[in-house]
Amino acid sequence: MEWFEESYGNFALKIRIKEVLVDLRTDYQRIQVFQTCDFGKMLVLDGKIQLTEKDEAFYHEMLVHVPMFEHRNPEKVLIIGGGDGGSLREVLKHGVEDAVLVEIDEEVVNISKKILKIDEGAFQDDRVSIHIEDGIEFVRESKERFDVLIVDGTDPNQYSRSLMSREFYERCKKICDVFVTQSQSPFAQKEYFMQILKNAREVMEARVYTGFVPTYPSGFWSYVISSQIFSSLDVIRERFEKRGVKTRYYNPEIHVASFSLPEWLKKEIVSY
Ligand code: SAM
Repeated sequence: MEWFEESYGNFALKIRIKEVLVDLRTDYQRIQVFQTCDFGKMLVLDGKIQLTEKDEAFYHEMLVHVPMFEHRNPEKVLIIGGGDGGSLREVLKHGVEDAVLVEIDEEVVNISKKILKIDEGAFQDDRVSIHIEDGIEFVRESKERFDVLIVDGTDPNQYSRSLMSREFYERCKKICDVFVTQSQSPFAQKEYFMQILKNAREVMEARVYTGFVPTYPSGFWSYVISSQIFSSLDVIRERFEKRGVKTRYYNPEIHVASFSLPEWLKKEIVSY
């Protein structure tokens, strides 16, 4: 049995794999799917782990439910990236009317439908429309408004880099009420995290919250959110119960606590 290794700088994560299920190149990236020994199936793009079945909910639930519960009544939602369908699955739990997913690489969606299947039928839902195009073009051209806009993009590369630009955030801000983007690991990928936060803060009031995703660099993950108001624990609890959302990681207490940052991170954000 072999190991898959992802290194970031001078440290690395190794996961033992049983079988290679997919290994192909598209116009955008190399796509690999592995059957691992302990983590279920694992999606890897350009050598970077995107998800494993064992902990993908830790990431998708925090990315989606924090902004969705901050909104009083999210009906129309836009997801940029997220071709694996995990964020889409979580968005549909809120009883939305309309969910739009914009993914640049059609093969990610195809492989997710056929092999990963973490969408649990979300791709087939009548309320969902899928656009295969660059997210930056979509938001540039969009005449629609969204209650919540979720950016579920890859680590910065030739195509996803635009999803952390000031221009992209400026446009996103104009077309939604609540905005969120995943913002990498402040511990293992400080430069990317700081760049995302800085660019977002140039065009919107943005706050940081964090979570634990064991198979992402260092396990310590971050999200940048912008919302006109942030709700109390009581309000979040009430919405959580009313919507009847079932989760594996997220709960209202974690929601509120995730905005409390460790001292070293607070200092870095202030001194940047
Ligand atoms: N959050 C996960 C992570 O960091 O590991 C990302 C998972 S999801 C698979 C990311 C998706 O974003 C990929 O399928 C990729 O093709 C897509 N993507 C990258 N750049 C994009 C762009 N400019 N527009 C739309 N989708 C993009």
